Amino acid sequence: PPILEVQNLSVEYRRGRRRTLAVDDVSLQIAPRETLGLVGESGSGKSTIGKAVLGLVRPSSGVIRYDGRDILSLSKAQRRALTKELQVIYQDPHTSLDPTKPIGYSIAEPVQVHEPADKAVVRERVFAMLRRVGLSEDAARRFPAQFSGGQKQRIAIARALILSPRLVVCDEPVSALDLSIQAEVINLMAELQHEMGASYLFISHDLSIVHYLSDRIAVLKQGRIVEQGDAGRVYED
Ligand code: ADP
Ligand code: ADP
Repeated sequence: PPILEVQNLSVEYRRGRRRTLAVDDVSLQIAPRETLGLVGESGSGKSTIGKAVLGLVRPSSGVIRYDGRDILSLSKAQRRALTKELQVIYQDPHTSLDPTKPIGYSIAEPVQVHEPADKAVVRERVFAMLRRVGLSEDAARRFPAQFSGGQKQRIAIARALILSPRLVVCDEPVSALDLSIQAEVINLMAELQHEMGASYLFISHDLSIVHYLSDRIAVLKQGRIVEQGDAGRVYED
């Protein structure tokens, strides 16, 4: 069974009298360990789909099932439990890093919430994750402002993956980085994809990046999926 199943999802934003149908009757599925790339121009509705999956915007219609369960009908406690399995990596790493805390704290936070353990045990998990994303253990004591953009994205990735989530929504995770740094972060993500066995919804406007990281690709245009299929085939079209 799919880890994520989106059926006939529509999302309409309302601002005063203005209505925008950001997502129009979208259906997609992601199997365990699979990466689905969601590609499309700016404004095509990619982020809105990501936010709906994360429970951050309310669908106007449609169903979103995570591991067979309708996420809209979950209780608060169930939704909280889901945050352990469902993680997110944003374009701007600051979204998940607290500027006032050493980054070790931000990486440890999901562990403290969902799998609390002795300080030494948590610290060792943080160190292991830091090493895995190519940073040293001393990085844990430093603050977000002391890192480059690429390093901050590595830190955000460490935080997102420390609990071995089952599904990770990545919303333009490298778009704000210089090209050479993009390549480093993409290569890291590709390694972790294979190593950690999560599924990914990988959102990007850049088809070549999506092609590199995805098993299947869905192409979005004005809120609708206009093509969906095997990554190689969609890339060639
Ligand atoms: P993408 O991620 O592909 O750039 P978005 O999902 O961000 O697309 O946006 C899809 C459409 O919804 C766009 O027309 C955008 O202007 C509109 N939109 C996005 N967020 C909001 C919002 N909070 N309020 C009103 N309209 C929004
Ligand atoms: P406390 O206030 O109990 O010292 P914090 O809330 O600051 O702990 O941090 C909780 C956990 O986050 C720590 O047990 C540790 O594993 C991790 N952590 C926080 N800061 C760092 C750091 N600078 N280096 C390594 N791990 C850290």
